[in-house]
Amino acid sequence: MILGLPLIFFPSSLLIQGGLVVDGLGGEGRIASIRVKNRVIVEVGNLTPLLQESVIDATGMVVSPGFIDAHSHAAGGILKEPSALSQLTQGITTAVVGQDGGWDQPLEKEAAEIGAVKPSLNFAFFSGHGGIRRQVMGSDYKRAARDEEIDRMSGLVDADMKWGAVGMSSGLEYDPGYYSTTSELMRLAKAIAPYKGVYISHVRDEADSAFTAFSELVEIGKSSRVTSQISHIKLGSSSVWNRADDALKMIDKCNIYADVYPYLYWQSTIAALVPSRDWEDRKIWEKGLADVGGPHNVRLTKYTPDRSWEGYNLEELGKKLGRDPISIIQEILRKTTDGEASQSVVVTAMQESDLVKFIRHPRVMFCSDGSIGGSHPRGAGSFPRVLGRYVREMKVLSLGEAIRKMTSLPATVFGLKGRGVLRPQAIADICIFNANTITDRATPDAPKTLSVGVRDVMVNGEWVLRDGQVTTATPGQMVKRGK
Ligand SMILES: [Zn+2]
Repeated sequence: MILGLPLIFFPSSLLIQGGLVVDGLGGEGRIASIRVKNRVIVEVGNLTPLLQESVIDATGMVVSPGFIDAHSHAAGGILKEPSALSQLTQGITTAVVGQDGGWDQPLEKEAAEIGAVKPSLNFAFFSGHGGIRRQVMGSDYKRAARDEEIDRMSGLVDADMKWGAVGMSSGLEYDPGYYSTTSELMRLAKAIAPYKGVYISHVRDEADSAFTAFSELVEIGKSSRVTSQISHIKLGSSSVWNRADDALKMIDKCNIYADVYPYLYWQSTIAALVPSRDWEDRKIWEKGLADVGGPHNVRLTKYTPDRSWEGYNLEELGKKLGRDPISIIQEILRKTTDGEASQSVVVTAMQESDLVKFIRHPRVMFCSDGSIGGSHPRGAGSFPRVLGRYVREMKVLSLGEAIRKMTSLPATVFGLKGRGVLRPQAIADICIFNANTITDRATPDAPKTLSVGVRDVMVNGEWVLRDGQVTTATPGQMVKRGK
């Protein structure tokens, strides 16, 4: 036996050497190495390789915790594409799903379906108020819920929390959440309080009445004594533009959180431009178009009845057809409301000065609000866009602070234990990227184009992306609150 060998022989460990280690807690990082063994980080510092240890050279690269997507819609697409390349190439290692009110089945079943496809990345879950409301009220949901219905909903929220949900989500611009009263939401949020869950909401209005909607969220959190968070915060109409400071003051004063995606445009159907359903009334469209700054800010990205219209904004389309934009909108709706035909628009409705303030603020974390293979570029570009455009080019915030808001901030708020930080005993979710080149490439015309700059991604101690290529590993876990 060679003396001393057993002490230095750790065949299963791996060393990531010489990168700029940005640990996720907000500091700017230092050159160091990281040793990973069995799925856990065991050492961080000035380390030399052990005998037979595999070594990854990270010289010139940033080594950070894997990113946590605070508002993700990857739960649908993952069933078809478990490798989730569009998420891994953004450096995302945990997608927080069940957003905007969630799904139409118990969370445990949803999580089991995702777990069964063996995804490359981790998933954490919100219990969905909308899905639960539908389970209890069925198709008779266009009204306030009765007391005993709220009690039953509360029991279902409790079951999801017992399973390990990180909190409860609502989507109050959508059916069936739209019909819920503030007091219903307050009573249901009480069900998450014993678990220290988070109430997260796509609030009732993201345009003219955004501030009233934010206030409702604050009241729900206060009365139920839970932490609350505004989903994909935005000021989406001209009457609230340039009021980011007011929104952030409210966030600070009320100790709430928000998440944001780094784009100035939302994507939906053209009907989402106006709250009314009286589409033949020209006045509602005059206001709807004025609210977003004019017809040039509404771009038709999909229109199956006439594909030659796709790609034009409404001002261009008006000139091309010699018609006014409102009659075009009305025709689009007439031809797509029933049957197979479909349409979608990308609407530039936010101000960059507001977005920059949200991106910079310490209580605002990052999200994609994106899906796998979706038609908004945020699904493939959000995190590299923050690091490329807003950190490197515009210097809105430092690299260390941006990474904190992508990692330890969501991990702490959502109770994802042992994640979001690079230190001994932490779970080895790691992203290695080039800070000089990381960039989003997806656009409204090519929304699935992958980002560049993320070289390697490790999930639970296994490489899922190496040199920009997916591996065959399937280490993604269904992460539960506090575990
Ligand atoms: Zn939403």
